[in-house]
Amino acid sequence: MSRACVVQKYGGSSVADVTRIRAVAARIVATRRSGFDVVVVVSAMGNTTNELLALAEQISPSPGRRELDLLISVGERVSMTLLAMAIQELGEPAQSFTGSQSGIITDTRHVNAAVEEVRPYRIQRALDEGQIAIVAGFQGVSRTGEVTTLGRGGSDTTAVVLTAALGAEYCEICSDVDGVYTADPRTVSAASKIDELPLDSAIDMAQAGSKVLLAEALHQAKTHGVTLSASATAKPSGSGTRVVPTPPSSNIVGIAADIGLCLVPPEAPLAEFDGSIRGRLPDGRTLVDERNLPPLATWAVPARPIATVSAIGREAVSNPAVFERAVHAVTAIDPDVCWWSHGQTLSFLVDRSHAADTERALHNALIVSTL
Ligand code: ADP
Ligand code: ASP
Ligand code: MG
Repeated sequence: MSRACVVQKYGGSSVADVTRIRAVAARIVATRRSGFDVVVVVSAMGNTTNELLALAEQISPSPGRRELDLLISVGERVSMTLLAMAIQELGEPAQSFTGSQSGIITDTRHVNAAVEEVRPYRIQRALDEGQIAIVAGFQGVSRTGEVTTLGRGGSDTTAVVLTAALGAEYCEICSDVDGVYTADPRTVSAASKIDELPLDSAIDMAQAGSKVLLAEALHQAKTHGVTLSASATAKPSGSGTRVVPTPPSSNIVGIAADIGLCLVPPEAPLAEFDGSIRGRLPDGRTLVDERNLPPLATWAVPARPIATVSAIGREAVSNPAVFERAVHAVTAIDPDVCWWSHGQTLSFLVDRSHAADTERALHNALIVSTL
């Protein structure tokens, strides 16, 4: 009888150096020895992806996206091989696979590709042979055979689509934080861990900028009914946040800041921002996610770095008293702040230098003060 299979994903900070790679290998081996087949999705070591992008920028202010994809796919190929070797050193068989070898088929939109199909035949064969399978996150291959990448943070998506395609029990996203908090715990010391988070609330938190689980991965989890959790790499499985398919309550779930945005003027050529447009202000300026685009300095139009800080939960948009408290807290920092609501999220557009203060103020006004 075949064993139950789990997919674990380890982010860049979890494999930033050899010591940490060895610790991750030991965590994987412990899962394996507790009776599971294990598929591991791994990100590039530490800051590798940014370093590769910075190298490209030194060569060309606007490098071609095909070459960029080949370049940045290398980061995950380094970590996957080292992790496989570390597991072998602990006495368990392991093999590593690129996105293409893992059967992650995408569209052709370089640097921001979408997964169209997953054919994990080689991964399944490796599991059948008793191997631990290590997969390079964040990358795939188009139907024309080109290497593509899935957008920044895309290893989470790799993990979820593989969980679905393999029919694995669950997907555990492991990082430097032990779950989803009511705000970024690095910015807001009063933030608390959420033990059980409705999937739709997790999607709203991710879309509003909380990094710990990627929005696209959560959408894929919803589409395919994947069971998902967020855990700390440094702690055993089961102590983090479980994402559950129940409907959200009306309470405020959390506060999230997105500091990777900028505003471009109405005359900007929007085709250049393919897949990165996040909204339009009444004055005609467009809100763009700068993470999958060339650096601001090389753009043909002036762009203003900006941030959004959002309160997630129906109350923020439906309860006037809660809305008033939020506006009061934010206007104390910036009297001219602009806001809008969408779905169950209330968002404020703030100068990037005010993002952290605004996140703390909103958390204090809407979460701490109600405890
Ligand atoms: P990885 O590199 O492992 O994918 P990420 O950097 O994508 O990890 O996500 C983990 C980071 O997300 C944490 O270090 C934390 O600072 C940040 N973060 C932002 N918002 C939240 C939140 N609401 N809960 C937990 N972590 C958050
Ligand atoms: N290494 C890629 C990035 O830095 C993908 C990931 O970490 O998931 O965005
Ligand atoms: Mg991440």
